[in-house]
Amino acid sequence: MTAKFRVFATCDIGEAIELLRRRGYEVEVYPQPESPPKELIIEKVKSGIDGLITTLRDPIDAEIFEAGKGTLKVVAQYAVGFDNINRADANRYKIPFTHTADVLTEATAEFAFFMLGMLARKMWPAEHLTRENNWGFWHPYLPFLGDEVTGKTVAVIGTGRIGLAFINKCVGFNMNVLCYDPAYQNHGFVKAIQEVHDLRHVRGLVNDKPWIKYVGLEEALGGTDFVSVHVPLIRPGESDTPTYHLFNETTLRMMKPTAYLVNTSRGPVVDEAALAHALRENWIAGAALDVYEKEPLPTDSPLRDPAISDRCRLMPHFASAARITRLSTDPDKGMAGRCVQGLMDVLERNYGGDATKMPYVVNKEAFAK
Ligand code: NAD
Repeated sequence: MTAKFRVFATCDIGEAIELLRRRGYEVEVYPQPESPPKELIIEKVKSGIDGLITTLRDPIDAEIFEAGKGTLKVVAQYAVGFDNINRADANRYKIPFTHTADVLTEATAEFAFFMLGMLARKMWPAEHLTRENNWGFWHPYLPFLGDEVTGKTVAVIGTGRIGLAFINKCVGFNMNVLCYDPAYQNHGFVKAIQEVHDLRHVRGLVNDKPWIKYVGLEEALGGTDFVSVHVPLIRPGESDTPTYHLFNETTLRMMKPTAYLVNTSRGPVVDEAALAHALRENWIAGAALDVYEKEPLPTDSPLRDPAISDRCRLMPHFASAARITRLSTDPDKGMAGRCVQGLMDVLERNYGGDATKMPYVVNKEAFAK
């Protein structure tokens, strides 16, 4: 079926826009790289568009859904996280919204692992030595040393899609894994990873046999060399397991002074003031962040303090920023492809028009009979 629908995209998502146009869609793309003001999104929605393509930068709530009453049929989010979309409001207005889970899982997990290595082995300060001509001599321990990753223990907070993919990457580095997830525990996965460790040990590929297990939060944070965070942002009241400020003065103090924190999930999961304090006072050894409470990171953020720059790596929300992951029009490979497929599923009434059967619709509960 090829139908003509009107769509507004708050951001250019590449060739996938042409894919819609070739199917007869009329698509308007906000031309600036920054997100459009909310008033403009409301104006576009009020003009009667059928579909809205959004990113994590756009606040989507009752105001938007009210503006689209009777006309807006779908919001297609170009991300797996959807904390910018008010799910209760979407449900009240019975508007399905879609996301791009899975296609960014490996890219995000590998980036988290690279951040962990870069942080622990001090690659950023080491490159600065070279670039700034401060590499005066080879020396056993001057001017600083990093910490090995191989054979160490990592706590994985949130064992959903990205958390499990991250664990898979840790296998080759013979890492022990402490899993923490109060809402979803994949014991089959843990068993399979242990079997791989056991086989590698039996076949003489590793001397020590690494282990993996689910534990409580305190045990995970207290017993580990690294922490990698892979939870959605859940504000208090939204679920029994909120993640807002999950890392705060109390939980940061549970970590060992030699341990490192890596966060590629969402900024507000970490209380940044508490983290800056922890880094200044050496409660932990270092942190690498890809996401922030406010993005882009404000000029006056305490995380920019030069006194902690050797142990605080700051990435620009970049974990999924790989070519195929971001732009492929194949819905099984790229966020762009999956985003427009989710939009088309709703508008073209695929799956018999039943939103509960559409794989990329998030708020299926609003459409259950
Ligand atoms: P997912 O839903 O598959 O997994 C999230 C897991 O977190 C679930 O298993 C859930 O049970 C668990 N969880 C919920 N509350 C928890 C709590 N209080 N403590 C511990 N675990 C808890 O999601 P995913 O696809 O793995 O993505 C995770 C998040 O990563 C996304 O929601 C998004 O915010 C973020 N993300 C960031 C980037 C980036 O570019 N930096 C890219 C992709 C995803």
